[in-house]
Amino acid sequence: MATKILLVEDSETQLRFLKEGLVQNGFEVETATNGSEAYKKVYTGTPDIIVSDIMMPAIDGYQLCRMIKNMDETKKIPVILLTVLENKIDSFWGKKAGAQLFLSKSIDIKELVSQINATVRRYPVSDEYKKTLAEKDGTDNSAQTRLNTILNDLLLKSMFSNEFRNLSDFLNYERIMVEKLFSLLSSFVEYHAAGVYFASPDDFAENIVYIDTLGRNMPKNLLSDISYDFFRKMEEHKNIKNSKFEVVRMILGKELDYEFSDLTSKIIIPLIFDKKLIGGICFYTRQDVDYSSFRYFDIMISELLAIFKMKYQYTEKEFMSVLDGLTGLYNRRQFEIGLEQEFNRSKRHPSDFSLAILDIDFFKKVNDNYGHQYGDYVLKVVSDLMKQAFRKTDLLYRYGGEELVMIMPETNIEGALIPVQRLRRMVEEYDFEYNGVKARVTASIGLTMNFQEFKSSAEIVKSADEALYRAKEEGRNRVIIHEQ
Ligand code: GH3
Ligand code: MG
Ligand code: MG
Repeated sequence: MATKILLVEDSETQLRFLKEGLVQNGFEVETATNGSEAYKKVYTGTPDIIVSDIMMPAIDGYQLCRMIKNMDETKKIPVILLTVLENKIDSFWGKKAGAQLFLSKSIDIKELVSQINATVRRYPVSDEYKKTLAEKDGTDNSAQTRLNTILNDLLLKSMFSNEFRNLSDFLNYERIMVEKLFSLLSSFVEYHAAGVYFASPDDFAENIVYIDTLGRNMPKNLLSDISYDFFRKMEEHKNIKNSKFEVVRMILGKELDYEFSDLTSKIIIPLIFDKKLIGGICFYTRQDVDYSSFRYFDIMISELLAIFKMKYQYTEKEFMSVLDGLTGLYNRRQFEIGLEQEFNRSKRHPSDFSLAILDIDFFKKVNDNYGHQYGDYVLKVVSDLMKQAFRKTDLLYRYGGEELVMIMPETNIEGALIPVQRLRRMVEEYDFEYNGVKARVTASIGLTMNFQEFKSSAEIVKSADEALYRAKEEGRNRVIIHEQ
């Protein structure tokens, strides 16, 4: 049986010329002068191969090819695309559209024949496949409709990619990143509660699942049930020591009156890269939602994976280093090491040391009002003021986002209070100015020392944290000392 070619070309002259040449070489040739006609003829004529021009009005060769390759029932039919110019981008698109071969229109007929024969030999279409195809009706779902579906899919994919990639501007700002991520996720996924978790390369880091409730006020036990449920799944992939949850985007109001068991549909997805758990995400809802069948879940997961991977590698880089990139202070890990050393030393050679934690007041407002670059600038200035306020022997660290800690060896509370108050005043009096924008900022500080009652270094940090909390409660811009 002769090989059946579907030849698609919008210029009548060219079409006639090519057809003649192919028929003379023993092919059976069916023709179409545009993409949608061709698409119908794939069903009615069941060709062995499609040879199509690229430049055609309305539906062009790429689009025709994409449609063919997008449907199981037609995708096995090989496609050769013809173009006038041999340009790279044409060939790139042709391949992306799934074409088997890409030929110049100026190719002579003998060469075209041999290429067609070779392609048909390589990609044979079985009679059975053709039979199934012939039973389908290509007209019920018009070419234009199918094309629109494909275009929508592609647009959505690239929109997804863009939106997720935009998050990478906030690798340094976990909290901001989380908020943006939730606002993105909530725009296309149904949920009553969602959680994200960024795993850290530091085994001792606290594991936080950030929970979004779409602004609704959920009871605390419901949130902790979610957090527990989520981390249990994460533990299958990573040893998790300290975990807690934090709620973002929650507006206080009437507390919801349902419980964990009411969240009947859920999905928890560990994000794994290179056999390492790099994070996770979960969705819970009271409705009947089958998340895994959600049309764009795959795309979403692959985009999430890309962004979590970047975040993980960023954190890994920070973790491996000693100094914090922004402030030039020692980083969190160095703090853990330094504090432990100081604590052990004070046990061996009884001596006092003090510890203070500073947290900038209303820092979120600084970011919101002036942008996070301004926030970075403020953080840098406060760190510099800190270096000025303390002695060379004092140890200064960036503890968290906008939290700085100071360890003052051989110093009791009375001694520590002097530089700590000095720093608080320096911040209060500083005229911040960046890109011509002026601002005033204050900070609150919690101060403590290695009191007898503390059995571990963690208890010391906790007491400073509590003092800091009170400083915030009592009006900010002040130093509060831990009460024994
Ligand atoms: P409070 O007075 O209660 O401390 O209010 P606050 O707004 O400072 O609240 P909180 O300490 O909870 O928020 C700190 C914010 O600081 C959250 C985060 O968006 C931002 N932040 C954390 N790290 C950085 C950073 O490196 N750069 C910038 N620009 N912002 C950061
Ligand atoms: Mg803070
Ligand atoms: Mg703060």
